[in-house]
Amino acid sequence: MATYKTKGVIIKRVNYKEADKILTIFTANMGKIAALAKGVRKTTSKLGGHLELFCSVDLILAEGKSFDIVTSVEKNWHFKNLCFDLDRTSHAYYVCELVDRFTNEGFKDTRLYNLLLLTLDAINRDVLFEKKMNLILSSFKIKLLKILGFLPDLKKCVKCGKRYRENYFSTFVGGLICKDCFDIDRESLKISFECLKVLNFLEDNSFENIERLKIEKKLSLEVEKVLDLFIRFTLDRECKAKKLLCDVETLNVKLLNY
Ligand SMILES: [Zn+2]
Repeated sequence: MATYKTKGVIIKRVNYKEADKILTIFTANMGKIAALAKGVRKTTSKLGGHLELFCSVDLILAEGKSFDIVTSVEKNWHFKNLCFDLDRTSHAYYVCELVDRFTNEGFKDTRLYNLLLLTLDAINRDVLFEKKMNLILSSFKIKLLKILGFLPDLKKCVKCGKRYRENYFSTFVGGLICKDCFDIDRESLKISFECLKVLNFLEDNSFENIERLKIEKKLSLEVEKVLDLFIRFTLDRECKAKKLLCDVETLNVKLLNY
């Protein structure tokens, strides 16, 4: 059986048969691949502990009929905070689900691979404040859409090309619409000038700069709402991780008031 080496991040794991798992891995040189990890759910498995979600791994795979099979693995980076902190875990899930949903098997892009690693690293950072996590996630969404060519022009009206302070975000036309071109449709959202400025900032800046950005919770929520509307429209579905994120936030509020 022919074998090959690759390195990548494990973005999804699904149970298969009695003791196996099918892994989805976003790799540096081959893009998104699926691989079979045999027997990893057995406690005696040598591979098991090294094939956790969000891990960056070096792999040796053997070519198989339906799936290529993991024969050897070495963990080269484990984002430990992503596994032990529910807030970070739910954000990391969202990042991985978006990468998975927006790409097909075999899709290759080094920029996306680097963005995935940088985002998981930013969410994993010990000093990251909870409220900044949402901004990191929003910035990831914008950067992902930009790499994949889905990001609408967030600087001017897509119809007339003019820049106004009063705008709407319309999935119908796929971007920003000024008040003059605005035509009521179900999927339009009024967008404040401040929100637009933040969206542009998140597109143009590194995670280090974004961590220093100070904005109110209300504005951060508006940014999320616009991006989630656009992502739902583009994927034509809601991400599962979005619900998980909301559940964790509700739980946090309940715990605060307990
Ligand atoms: Zn216009």
